[in-house]
Amino acid sequence: MIRLDLLDRDGEVVPLFYDQHTSRLMDQNGWRAIDFTGHQLLESAPTERRKFIAVDYDQPGKKVREVTKLKIQLGLGCNYSCAYCLQAAQIHKAAASSTRDASEFLSNIDNWIGAPEGMEKVELWGGEPLLYWKKIEVLAPALKEKFPNARFSIITNGSLLTREIVDQLKAWDFSVSISHDGPGQHIRGDDPFEDPHKFAFIQYAFKQLHPRFSFNSVLTPASHDVSAIIDWFQDYFPGCNVAFEGVVHSYAADASSIFTIEQLEQFSDMLSRQLVDGSALRSPAMADKLRRAMTSLVNERSSDTLFQKCGMDTPEYLAVDLKGNVMTCQNVGANGNHKIGHVDDFESIALNTSRHWSKRAECQSCPVLQLCQGACMYQGGDNWTHSCNAEFYYNLAFLRVALYGLTGRWLTGFSGDIVRPTLKKDRHVQVR
Ligand code: SF4
Ligand code: SF4
Repeated sequence: MIRLDLLDRDGEVVPLFYDQHTSRLMDQNGWRAIDFTGHQLLESAPTERRKFIAVDYDQPGKKVREVTKLKIQLGLGCNYSCAYCLQAAQIHKAAASSTRDASEFLSNIDNWIGAPEGMEKVELWGGEPLLYWKKIEVLAPALKEKFPNARFSIITNGSLLTREIVDQLKAWDFSVSISHDGPGQHIRGDDPFEDPHKFAFIQYAFKQLHPRFSFNSVLTPASHDVSAIIDWFQDYFPGCNVAFEGVVHSYAADASSIFTIEQLEQFSDMLSRQLVDGSALRSPAMADKLRRAMTSLVNERSSDTLFQKCGMDTPEYLAVDLKGNVMTCQNVGANGNHKIGHVDDFESIALNTSRHWSKRAECQSCPVLQLCQGACMYQGGDNWTHSCNAEFYYNLAFLRVALYGLTGRWLTGFSGDIVRPTLKKDRHVQVR
């Protein structure tokens, strides 16, 4: 149980008690503190959700043939070298594949996919996926036909767009996202916005693909003012969708991906205020995340239903390369420990590279468990600690503003039996 100190409008600090596993807010006597009867976010009938699967290194997760989300890794090559790229350490581990492999992948797919009509989403991934355009030309039309009910998407750095590529992606009805950090792009290296030739094709893509087009930013130590990032994109593209891929994780202990705790406290404080004043909510992704934070409290969502943050522990989600190798996720190569099986031997696929949040004492006791869902499931050691810290302060902003929206009181501190890496047991933590 976590004690939350909430400041009311009279300057009084009122404690509430929060159970992160039942999402219930209680008073000192253990009674439900708020009556949400009639609240607009209250589900009339509780949504039926499956219990998570507690995947661990010695308790591998399985995959099922009834895939609902298919992530196809075309290759991990990229024409950019972003400082904090999580794929950088994996590039040499990707299995090389050719356009011919794309054709063979298609001719083999009926042997392992169970229910094509149930496919909900197909994502084409790089590296930089447009480096593999010839493979995409082979794959996309056939996959569209194969999975008529699926949505298709691609995330690119935007530097290789051409008029023909944009027209073709539009004809295939793809959602397209450009991964770009706006004012913080400099730490990623080149900026396609500064190249008139490349920028013209980004303008063309926006014009042709909007509203199925977004800019996706990562929040980093160099750039985490959400409102300023939205302003930056809106100056170029009024009305555009600025999405956020969340807060950066540390994969190579690179300085560009590690916040100091002081930076994180300031970031969490600034984001909280921008969520309240609405400037951050101009991003649909931010608005949706806040709505989910409030929904979790109103509906007292059980942690039993929480799969991992990215969902790659879900049996129906599959990351595969064109050789048919199955990986932990789309960001890792198959020529290493992240190869978890092959589609030709589907029943032997074993997700044994990862640890579900329920297996980490830190997550079990964490106030933002419902919003974070354990960060990256395959990370460990110092990298996981850095990522956990970033996720904690990022998600704390959403918890604080969700509480403010529901109680009218401002979270000023919390305490409890919390074993997060940087928080000592029973220490009271002040938040701004
Ligand atoms: S913030 Fe850290 S401890 Fe909390 S749920 Fe996320 S990864 Fe786990
Ligand atoms: S396991 Fe999930 S969070 Fe970790 S790198 Fe892969 S997709 Fe991202």
